[in-house]
Amino acid sequence: MAKEEKYILPVLDPPETFYWGEPIDRATARDMGLKRYFTGKPCKKGHVAERHVSSACCVECTLRRHRTPEYRADMRPIYRDRYETDPEFQDRRRMHSREYWRAKNQ
Ligand SMILES: [Zn+2]
Repeated sequence: MAKEEKYILPVLDPPETFYWGEPIDRATARDMGLKRYFTGKPCKKGHVAERHVSSACCVECTLRRHRTPEYRADMRPIYRDRYETDPEFQDRRRMHSREYWRAKNQ
């Protein structure tokens, strides 16, 4: 059932709230063309936060996973080095991904 977790995140107990909007279920959000939905219920890590419509993953989990040292160690070294030392490169990458998603989701 549960997949082996590669990037271990601590469980927040009691759950913490990161989003205070109106609940909107996944199907409704998808029909409205939204990227995220919100159930108001905590994820298994105790985040009361939005979830991605595409993957049903908790947004807060994704963010936190990307900040773990293990995740950063797995980034391709060429990107990791530049990402940490070259602000212009960071901007370009952010820009690229924004453009990429916009094009993909049109
Ligand atoms: Zn979460």
